[in-house]
Amino acid sequence: MSGPREECGVFGISNHPEAARMIYYGLYALQHRGQESAGIVVGDGPDLVGHKGIGLVSEVFREDNLGKLRGSSGIGHVRYSTTGSNRLVNAQPLTILCHRGPLAMAHNGNLVNAGKLRRQLEEEGSIFQTTSDTEVLGHLVARSRQKDFLEALEESLQRVEGAYGYLLLTPRLLIGARDPQGIRPLVMGRLGEAVVLASETCALDAVEAEFVREVEPGEIIVAESEGGGFRSIRLPVSPKTARGRSTGLCIFEYIYFARPDSDLEGANVHLVRKRLGRILAAEHPVEADVVCGVPDSSLSAAAGYAEASGIPYEPALVKNRYIGRTFIQPDAVQRTLGVRLKLNANRKVVEGKRVVLLDDSIVRGTTSRRIVRLLREAGATEVHLRIASPPYTFPCFYGIDTSTSTELIAARKKVEEIREVVEADSLGYLSVPGLLKAIDRGNGHCLACFTGSYPVPVPVGAGKFALE
Ligand code: SF4
Repeated sequence: MSGPREECGVFGISNHPEAARMIYYGLYALQHRGQESAGIVVGDGPDLVGHKGIGLVSEVFREDNLGKLRGSSGIGHVRYSTTGSNRLVNAQPLTILCHRGPLAMAHNGNLVNAGKLRRQLEEEGSIFQTTSDTEVLGHLVARSRQKDFLEALEESLQRVEGAYGYLLLTPRLLIGARDPQGIRPLVMGRLGEAVVLASETCALDAVEAEFVREVEPGEIIVAESEGGGFRSIRLPVSPKTARGRSTGLCIFEYIYFARPDSDLEGANVHLVRKRLGRILAAEHPVEADVVCGVPDSSLSAAAGYAEASGIPYEPALVKNRYIGRTFIQPDAVQRTLGVRLKLNANRKVVEGKRVVLLDDSIVRGTTSRRIVRLLREAGATEVHLRIASPPYTFPCFYGIDTSTSTELIAARKKVEEIREVVEADSLGYLSVPGLLKAIDRGNGHCLACFTGSYPVPVPVGAGKFALE
């Protein structure tokens, strides 16, 4: 809830008579990964046709525009804008037309060398349509001297650095590519003869596709639009990267981004979050009457904290799920009303009680303070804030919306000072060893926002790609 925001979810399918409709359902299941824009592109004979818009999947797609997207393969995207502003031109999938034919791209992640590559490409004559880093890959493919499209793509992917789960579509092929460190997730499923690629397994469930496996770090999956086959190509990986094992899956996928019914690296996200809560209870015990979590991402950790501590769990905070983009924002005088409309405390649950409040992370501290106040106003006598991750101290350059450490309260203040800012009676963060113990997958992970150790070197100026 007060954690960072992820920017994108991707979903693609090949060889299915209702490709657009399946993508629509898949994007619905990935809506939590981005609410700013949504789009679908499908292959229709020699052409690619699509529709995209600003807003939620339900706001962008209706029967009339979805019905026009005929084709057996396609890709879709939901976006929360980080790199490039939230204008329709930056909504994805992006489609370009070059001498190789039409190409559509949908990207989850961020390229740390996009600015440098873009400058080089522009000097060589490329004209960009968008301010998004995603387009860089399309220009690299278009300009590659390799005759074969897949060889051009392979060469281009070796030039981009950073985090990506890319889906690409040509009239003949659906392609998924995951970055060599496996920072961003990408999974593969089967729906009869169709190949499905998605950011999370919950999207496979949404279309009743069977989970096959995760796309491996540095792997490119190529599926024919017609016919159910697929093949795998591997990018060269760093010597540290064992085949099939991630060295850098974003740890925040477990903490916050992924839906609790998704699996990551074979582990169910809800169960991992429960373990975060259990370990947190052992690391930061407190005497209290009630445990609650900030909906939705912290409910599993709250359940784990309650189980381990023996303090009863209660849904003390209730989130309104129906506030869309068209919600008329209150003016300054009515601001508290707006806050209450989005999140309310259940007075009968907390009145006269000592409350343990679980949250996934603290970014700026303002959201946490607002929720602590909400509980006190509802009658809580004490509010003990427990964070199911270590202090968020370093910015992310791989696709999350914090690109400077000045935004991060833990980069400037000690835990006790943060406690004062958020007005809690006590504050406890999960330790890094506690976090790793809860996840326990045997793979490496990106922990850079807690440790400052970035799995892909971050060039000066990375994360500052937007040119507006
Ligand atoms: S820096 Fe943090 S948010 Fe970014 S990929 Fe790494 S763990 Fe995830």
